[in-house]
Amino acid sequence: MGGERVNMEKRLTIAIDGYSSCGKSTFAKAVAKELNYIFIDSGAMYRTVTLFCMREKFIGNAGLDIHGILKELNNINIDFIFNPDINEYETFLNSENVENEIRSMEVTAHVSRISQIPEVRTRMVELQRQIGIYKGIVMDGRDIGTVVFPDADIKIFMTASVDIRARRRHDELKGRGIIIDFEEIKRTIIARDIADENRDISPLRRADDAIILDNSRMTVGEQMVWIKQIIEKKRNDS
Ligand code: C5P
Repeated sequence: MGGERVNMEKRLTIAIDGYSSCGKSTFAKAVAKELNYIFIDSGAMYRTVTLFCMREKFIGNAGLDIHGILKELNNINIDFIFNPDINEYETFLNSENVENEIRSMEVTAHVSRISQIPEVRTRMVELQRQIGIYKGIVMDGRDIGTVVFPDADIKIFMTASVDIRARRRHDELKGRGIIIDFEEIKRTIIARDIADENRDISPLRRADDAIILDNSRMTVGEQMVWIKQIIEKKRNDS
């Protein structure tokens, strides 16, 4: 019988999409650590492009300088470099560590506009697929299961209530010494949901074959138990 042996070591591609601030990156990072996989935060890539555009004054109060952005797009180099001191990857823009700066409220407020630009998306998707060819990857974002890796082995769509997401974001910022009014955070989250779900290209939506994970009342530990069962099942089925 020529049946293929079950390969327990098969390296998977895991796509995690979902709403802003519902803990996608925390979860994706934990899954990658558990499996010894690469973790890629695709949102960090859009944030890095946004930071570049802000510095070049391509986006700001004066509006959007689309020509400037397109002219410079290929000069925006994004790297993820491992920092052994914190045991995490950090985001670099043209060799500069921008990990903290890309998480600022200013970048957060502008990123949805930048991520709507078709050429920006094409470039990011191209980079994401390049990183993904080696498999053994967990990538989180908005269009990973629908556009970037439509053939991903496991697709998760994460969600949580707006209040819980705003509370988590508030606490996370507070932990970093940034105090922002809870209602303002909530407004930003709702605005980003609307922008991400209603843009013309690659809007945020659940892939038909994605499994929903509502983590409103789940700890990261509980989410890990949940996904381990899914991974186990996937491996046994394939
Ligand atoms: O995940 P994070 O909140 O850091 O993403 C920032 C923004 O980047 C999102 O609000 C969305 O506009 C954009 N994004 C995207 N596609 C992805 C990941 C993020 O459009 N795959």
